Amino acid sequence: MRLSKYFLPVLKETPAEAQIASHRLMLRAGMIKQASAGIYSWLPLGFKVLRKLENIVHEEQVRAGHIPMLMPTLQSADLWRESGRYDAYGPEMLRIRDRQDRDMLYGPTNEELITDIFRSHVGSYRDLPLTLYHIQWKFRDEIRPRFGVMRGREFFMKDGYNFDLTKEDALHAYNRHLVSYLRTYERMGLQAIPMRADSGPIGGDDTHEFLVLAETGESEVFYDSEITDLKFGDREIDYADKAQCQAVLEEFTSRYARTDETHDAAIFNQIPEERRRVARGIEVGQIFYFGTKYSDPMGATVQGPDGKPVAVHMGSHGIGVSRLVGAIIEASHDDKGIIWPEGVTPFHAGIVNLKQGDGEADAACEKLYSALKAKGLDPLYDDRDERAGGKFATMDLIGLPWRITVGPRGLKNGVVELTSRRTGESEEMAPEAAVEKIA
Ligand code: ATP
Ligand code: MG
Ligand code: MG
Ligand code: MG
Repeated sequence: MRLSKYFLPVLKETPAEAQIASHRLMLRAGMIKQASAGIYSWLPLGFKVLRKLENIVHEEQVRAGHIPMLMPTLQSADLWRESGRYDAYGPEMLRIRDRQDRDMLYGPTNEELITDIFRSHVGSYRDLPLTLYHIQWKFRDEIRPRFGVMRGREFFMKDGYNFDLTKEDALHAYNRHLVSYLRTYERMGLQAIPMRADSGPIGGDDTHEFLVLAETGESEVFYDSEITDLKFGDREIDYADKAQCQAVLEEFTSRYARTDETHDAAIFNQIPEERRRVARGIEVGQIFYFGTKYSDPMGATVQGPDGKPVAVHMGSHGIGVSRLVGAIIEASHDDKGIIWPEGVTPFHAGIVNLKQGDGEADAACEKLYSALKAKGLDPLYDDRDERAGGKFATMDLIGLPWRITVGPRGLKNGVVELTSRRTGESEEMAPEAAVEKIA
């Protein structure tokens, strides 16, 4: 992409309404624009990152054997009356009436809708196990929408639902989700720690939240510092292997890590004092096993091996895709701007032409631009007729991992400058060597 032809409305001023770095930087970098309280338009740069996160989530869910689909944002109130949650959900649910006077709602989550799909089409235990998921916009009329996309009212979420014959199978689905989430967050350059949590209005006994440690996080968390040494890495996982998934769960959940809702000071205090941590975290996902909480009232049964009907064991599993954009920035920025992890960066590298209109500089930039594209990379070429200082500031703000700076002086010696956004280190080298180095 050439910057002169792109739409990147960066702001010079720091917007007064933004209280935390990610919100400030997303507005300044032209990633989002507020449409109304807690509702945002995703401008091209923000949309690019959102799509990258969505793709990572899809890839990891499919790898775990889960099946993608798409349910609507608007739902009929009838299903929620069946489960008993229409009244229980309260004012966070946006209720709408259509022209036929039917009660509708903008889905805050999809347990009812998916259970209805399941009971309509699945009749036998032979069709299990089954895990379906979608990535779709949700609406919750949050009492205090704030921090930009971190606590929006409309937000983008992956929600998956497992249907199993037995509790044991459903717990395997739970473990598969835990493992796939560990991989997902690591690919995004994040450490998200599974912590024992409270199930809230979804209901159920077994649940973990995934938290990214950050001072601006809304949850208070208590953990054993040893847990931050755990890495999932690139280990091979066979998601069908129950014992292997269970072992990962045990590895990542055996140390103390809880949110304030489930915190138990007596147990916490048994950890050696130097390992006890009290901090803040951003909830970027949650997994639940809730048994027959929805299948019982909604009649989601299958015929078991003995011919008798059995209510299926279910769980639901969410990832806050749009919140993650903010969480990644909270975890990775400096006073100049965002620092994108390689796996989610909107462009792989920026090319800065120090003297637009100079024949040699222009030609060298064009060559770099084509060479990066030929490598399958997505470069952003700042080809505007602007001062170098302004171009550097924009590149630092939008946080691409690499910047290649091209000017007549360097070209006389056959070199360009390659700068890492994360370390700030610059190196002069031949243009081909710079292309070579960018992954
Ligand atoms: P929170 O405690 O932050 O209100 P939640 O526990 O109500 O979140 P879940 O029902 O567990 O949310 O939904 C799954 C994921 O969706 C959350 O882990 C979070 O990452 C994301 N999410 C929830 N509410 C919002 C919101 N208002 N804005 C953006 N993302 C959200
Ligand atoms: Mg909530
Ligand atoms: Mg929560
Ligand atoms: Mg939650």
